[in-house]
Amino acid sequence: MVATFELEVTKVKYETHDVFSTYLSRDNFDYKPGQYVILEIDVEDLEGNTRPLSIASSPTEGFILLSTKIRDTPFKQKLIALKPGDKVKVKGPMGMFTLKEDAKEIVFLGGGIGITPFRDMIKYAADRKLAIKLTLLYSNKTAADIVYKDEWEAFQKQNPNLKVVHTITDDASWHGRKGRINEAMIKEFCSDVNTAIFYICGPPGMVTGLYELLKTMNKCLPNVQF
Ligand SMILES: Cc1cc2nc3c(=O)[nH]c(=O)nc-3n(C[C@H](O)[C@H](O)[C@H](O)COP(=O)(O)OP(=O)(O)OC[C@H]3O[C@@H](n4cnc5c(N)ncnc54)[C@H](O)[C@@H]3O)c2cc1C
Repeated sequence: MVATFELEVTKVKYETHDVFSTYLSRDNFDYKPGQYVILEIDVEDLEGNTRPLSIASSPTEGFILLSTKIRDTPFKQKLIALKPGDKVKVKGPMGMFTLKEDAKEIVFLGGGIGITPFRDMIKYAADRKLAIKLTLLYSNKTAADIVYKDEWEAFQKQNPNLKVVHTITDDASWHGRKGRINEAMIKEFCSDVNTAIFYICGPPGMVTGLYELLKTMNKCLPNVQF
């Protein structure tokens, strides 16, 4: 049975102009990298007072990090109003979108807020010094939308097996790689498309599109999430 925990908000901060992070006390909450929780807060919302949210922190870290895209919904507005010391309910952990620790090569295809479970898995692999070749292809509309912007460099320094590639679709001021994740980009960074394990997480259109693309590249059953 999945347990429900009452955890304390320890810190809050904006990651970007519209992505908000809530740090919770870890207590004895245990989980696998990539899993999610059902967050419950005290709010009146037609869509209900719970949302599934990926855990963005690694089990090797001493806190639970939840990062959400802020919209003008009662749930999200109440969430960003929470202050350190407030309590929330967390049901979990849940999900099988978890890190395959015995993989040789993993490619993460992420878009926007879909980065949350990948931060968890990537940080875990770095802290545990896992010998997996990891590539993150992270797509955003603008450079200002990149979540955990300052952390990617540090994670690459910590883990020589990790390569993070940002690609930006809609920002004339961006001088790095541009455009959506595509076949050429995947082939450029993936050593062996046939044996690598792919995880996809992002907006539904992106997930479906990349899933179909991988199928045409002879990949079967990649891991996909929202
Ligand atoms: C396993 C899992 C993990 C998730 N992890 C995260 C996470 O880490 N961070 C995060 O921010 N969200 C995550 N989500 C999505 C999250 O649970 C909410 O559904 C989402 O954040 C919208 O909640 P809301 O209160 O803003 O909007 P809601 O009140 O739920 O919806 C308001 C309106 O917005 C529309 N809407 C909702 N979501 C979207 C969308 N993605 N695109 C366009 N329209 C939409 C709805 O159809 C509705 O009309 C996850 C979902 C799943 C299933």
